[in-house]
Amino acid sequence: MTAHIRPDLESIPAYVPGRSHPGAVKLASNETTTGPLPAASKAVAEAVELANRYPDNQSGELRAALAEFLGVTPAEVAVGCGSVALCQELVQITCGDPSDEVLFAWRSFEAYPIITQVGNATAVTVPLREHIHDLDALAAAITDRTRLVFVCNPNNPTGTAVGAAELGRFLDRVPADVLVALDEAYYEYLRIPGDHPDGVELARTRPNVVVLRTFSKAYGLAGLRVGYAVGAPEVIASLLKVHIPFSVSRVAQAAAMASLEARHELLDRTDAVIAERERMRAGLLAAGYRVPPSEANFVWIDLGASTAEFAEASAAAGVLIRPFAGEGVRVTAGDPHENDLFLRFATSADTVAR
Ligand code: PMP
Repeated sequence: MTAHIRPDLESIPAYVPGRSHPGAVKLASNETTTGPLPAASKAVAEAVELANRYPDNQSGELRAALAEFLGVTPAEVAVGCGSVALCQELVQITCGDPSDEVLFAWRSFEAYPIITQVGNATAVTVPLREHIHDLDALAAAITDRTRLVFVCNPNNPTGTAVGAAELGRFLDRVPADVLVALDEAYYEYLRIPGDHPDGVELARTRPNVVVLRTFSKAYGLAGLRVGYAVGAPEVIASLLKVHIPFSVSRVAQAAAMASLEARHELLDRTDAVIAERERMRAGLLAAGYRVPPSEANFVWIDLGASTAEFAEASAAAGVLIRPFAGEGVRVTAGDPHENDLFLRFATSADTVAR
């Protein structure tokens, strides 16, 4: 006889990350193609020297550095083992009953339904409209059971973003006892002149808003697992309670500190990524694909029923991309050579004709 396991786990899929394959170009997980800065590698090497000691469970130095950078107090910043851990912790601090609802648009970040179900809460989804968050429909879907709302901005996997004015109008409609998590994993790639949505600013002024950002994308530390949340001190104090002890390693904290110090160098690179993203989008549009405007480091190609076949053919051509069955593919903007390889495949007469 095997041990008893929660029966409802049978219906929960394990999170499936983008594939990698030796020799193939990987444009499947929205990573940066460049490795860590020398300063981050040096900080990692130094941190390893103390690997026999537990890390600072409170990530005190990193929280202080983030607080200074963001113009908040350390009591308004929590650090997690990737921002996905903070997503899960947000479910844990808001939901305690199976009838508690977690609301989010769909399609959006794949982890939301999984962590909701793992957290024994009920997921409520509202479809995107033309690949963009339908914030009116999202506000209308709030019930007296809604505990948490995720707004992924820019949205993964469609890349679309909502501006500050629309976001503000939405937040005005959310009851004060419902926590809104603005997931800004791709914030550093977002440019909406004149209507720039800044989750930290919103979190600072609205006690029911918490923003999530990460070192995994523009800061290039996906392999080390560190993200952060900014919100009201009461929300942050609750996050610290459910935090798995020592889950942000000494190495991750050190690399994040060094990368934050060198942020100008890293953030300068985002302009190059954006230029590549736009070049990819223009090439794909010219070949007749449906590609919504993106504010992230990837593009979405609406492919419907031909999604799986397209992704397989792309892999066979040496480029791994991320398929979402029956809907479309998400393609990360890599370096120019990698992107050329993908564009050559996608815009070849054979592929377009399929
Ligand atoms: N939120 C969104 C929208 C994401 O796309 C991702 C990464 N795929 C995450 C959160 C989690 O990032 P990490 O845990 O690496 O910080």
